[in-house]
Amino acid sequence: MKINESQIKQVNAEIEQLIKADSFYGQRLKEHGISGIETVEDFEKLPFSEKKDLRDAYPLGLMTAPEEKIVRIHSSSGTTGLPVIIPYTQKDVDVWAEMFKRCYEMAGITNLDRIHITPGYGLWTAGIGFQAGAEKLGAMVIPMGPGNTDKQLQMMSDLGSTVLCATSSYALLLAEEIEKRGIKDKIKLKKGVIGSERWGEKMRNRITNELGIEIYDIYGLTEIYGPGIGISCKYDCGMHYWDDYIYIEIIDPVTLKPVPDGEMGEVVITTLCKEGAPLIRYRTHDLSKIIPGECECKSKFPRLGTIMGRTDDMMKIKGVNVFPSQIEEVLAMFHEISSEYQIRISHLDGKDTMRIYVETTGDVDFIDLSKRIAEKVKSKIGFTPLVKVVEMGVLPRSEKKSKRVFDERYE
Ligand code: ZN
Repeated sequence: MKINESQIKQVNAEIEQLIKADSFYGQRLKEHGISGIETVEDFEKLPFSEKKDLRDAYPLGLMTAPEEKIVRIHSSSGTTGLPVIIPYTQKDVDVWAEMFKRCYEMAGITNLDRIHITPGYGLWTAGIGFQAGAEKLGAMVIPMGPGNTDKQLQMMSDLGSTVLCATSSYALLLAEEIEKRGIKDKIKLKKGVIGSERWGEKMRNRITNELGIEIYDIYGLTEIYGPGIGISCKYDCGMHYWDDYIYIEIIDPVTLKPVPDGEMGEVVITTLCKEGAPLIRYRTHDLSKIIPGECECKSKFPRLGTIMGRTDDMMKIKGVNVFPSQIEEVLAMFHEISSEYQIRISHLDGKDTMRIYVETTGDVDFIDLSKRIAEKVKSKIGFTPLVKVVEMGVLPRSEKKSKRVFDERYE
């Protein structure tokens, strides 16, 4: 999906602001001698921006609007080194809430719903984004934040929450607790707005079945407002995103050239009207594709496919390029294992090895199962892993994102 004329106009307005503010990207534009664009080709020559640039701009080097217009900052959780600080103007906060309201509407959520929000509040964008959009919609917000499962379940049943906002792993944890405590008849949930991590079909089915809810995938990242820039509709065939506020292109992560619609690559996002910290051609390192054609729901908003992983998750095992999502697809063929798994890669006696940990119940033959999974991986992906089968519940569940791939070769 090529950038259109009105989007080019919006990008030009941002370019002007970036140069005026002399922020890192403004300086980069100056270095390239760029003060504006006219065509698609011009746009595709604009330099990329990356997380590292944002980190280098710490603390407030991204600030593009004058100080008196900045009303808030958010920060992404820096797993290594400095965090990234994103300043927001009042307009940015309003635009974000508007996008989030659209997400709820796309999911058929109304002002009669009671929205139970479990993502965290504070520096990161999750909780407050879910809340602002819900308030704009006019729904009743139950601002729980993460943790304290007892309290979550009590409020959920006493207040009759109808919509659960959570990460997939936390939704699963709650589903398992509800099952364990036998309180399913007290829970009124109808829909789940689930975001911020990649998850397999299997986990999705478990949450859908155990909680008896419809699930909508929400997309977003702190650098670009936060969650709420796109969501799946009831036909569940990709996430509609708001192309009047953001422009998405998919590039080949190696050649950095845009790929045609329908082809998998790295998601690169340009904000179209951001004031506090506009970003142009920001490399997300998320892997996905643009889904061509019109959706059955008739929405005019374009669609981004499910996030299939991170470009940095690509692993080279015995000379073969492997994405965790490929392993996940193989694991999904085995109904006797749970949706939790772990992949560990290590270097042993001069050779790369991959160990895959999966969970099953006590009535399954562990040795036979591990052999069958290893054979399937070999036939589908091209190398033989070591498969370790463990008891159900042994692998860690978390309230935040579950880390599932551990590359011990570089630790
Ligand atoms: Zn649709």
